[in-house]
Amino acid sequence: MSEKFYLTTTLPYVNSDPHIGFALELVQADAVARYFKLSGREVFFSTGTDEHGQKIAEKADEAGKSRQDYVDHYAAEFKKLIPTLGILSDIHFIRTTDEAHVRAAQELWRRCEKAGDIYKKKYKGLYCVGDEMFMKESELVDGRCPNHPNLELQEIEEENYFFRLSNYQKYLEGYLSREGIIVPEWRRLEALKFLEQGLEDFSISREVSRMDWGIPVPGDAGHVMYVWFDALTNYISTLGWPEDTDGNYKNFWENGFPVQVAGKDQIRFQSIMWQAMLKSAGLSETKKVVYHGFITSGGQKMSKSLGNVISPFELVERYGTEATRYLLLRHVHPFEDTDITFEKLTEWYNANLANGLGNLAARIMKMAETHLQEPVDIKDDTDALAAYANSFEKFNVGEALDSIWQKIGSLDLFIQTEQPFKVIKTDREKGIKDITYLVSSLYDIAVSLKPFMSETSEKILAAIKENKMPESLFVRKE
Ligand SMILES: [Zn+2]
Repeated sequence: MSEKFYLTTTLPYVNSDPHIGFALELVQADAVARYFKLSGREVFFSTGTDEHGQKIAEKADEAGKSRQDYVDHYAAEFKKLIPTLGILSDIHFIRTTDEAHVRAAQELWRRCEKAGDIYKKKYKGLYCVGDEMFMKESELVDGRCPNHPNLELQEIEEENYFFRLSNYQKYLEGYLSREGIIVPEWRRLEALKFLEQGLEDFSISREVSRMDWGIPVPGDAGHVMYVWFDALTNYISTLGWPEDTDGNYKNFWENGFPVQVAGKDQIRFQSIMWQAMLKSAGLSETKKVVYHGFITSGGQKMSKSLGNVISPFELVERYGTEATRYLLLRHVHPFEDTDITFEKLTEWYNANLANGLGNLAARIMKMAETHLQEPVDIKDDTDALAAYANSFEKFNVGEALDSIWQKIGSLDLFIQTEQPFKVIKTDREKGIKDITYLVSSLYDIAVSLKPFMSETSEKILAAIKENKMPESLFVRKE
């Protein structure tokens, strides 16, 4: 696989502070991006913020702020996640209020229109501001949106532009019949099931007189784009499409391997609507969308009213960046829903970082420092990354981490059964051999930690190089 690799998260909607679900998505994508970089691939990595739509307009009005000030504030909050979570600093950050993005969304619209896939009609429907979408009667529970039972649905009657999604039924059946196009596989089957119901055209504009916080529809000042149509375009506008002055779109999207990471509630947007829009505009498709599950706390969805919200900033404050990455990547299932509480997080932290990895590195390097005359000479030809290549090809970051902790467990066992610290007193040669083996195994562990915990990895590698016990890597938490 020598092609260029493109990886993007979805863009969080900026009507509230960064949520742990998005932090999960960002660190998952970061570990994958780092792995592919380390394996020698050229990687374009992107994230950003989704800043238009009715919900934002309403929140800005409530806060007595201008819309632009409101989204500027939140874009800055989301940008803070990059250093806070130890995300690759060369990540691209696209805002849907960026001028270049606005032009790209308008160009995509023109192309879909030229293909005959955009038409205008009078529309009456129930709009959920929470989802920023019209709901079908069949989707409602007791006349309310199942995702937002506390929100009053708005009955809206207006003339909207529609996208002919129904034209793409056959195309999408073909696209979604390709194994690997969606990870995990069972979500692909879910997407195919959704197609079986038959696709309906969807509204892609709002009347300016009712809602003006959006990108103007080309050639019609009376309408702005529906936020989803606008936001989905970010996956290629971040690459510089359509001008493509740097060739990133051509290299990473058309000729490369574009992968999107998204939450499990995004299938109809990412794998259906967006793929139809690309096809309509004559652009190539996303090669893979990886869907993660949701994080709950204490068995319930996190919510302010329940007081069980765990913010990514709070996690980092408590455990530090490295441990937060570890906790999200190993103890949150990459594809299924996972429940976390601070009790559980602290338990995992103590068992696997303070006692597991931290203690192992300290024990091995203490023995090395005491008994070896000089640093173990390690040739930098380890195949530590190859050992879990298969897990990364499946985007299963949790499985890759499991394999590292298996190795940590087996080295703990080796020390316990072989007792090199005792052996060295009676059989120096064997003692040295055992300690050397432990140090080079620790080296492999440090290398394999790179995509997940790069600072910890560096600290251990530096300790091996200096033949010194590292400073305490993870202090026990109460
Ligand atoms: Zn809703």
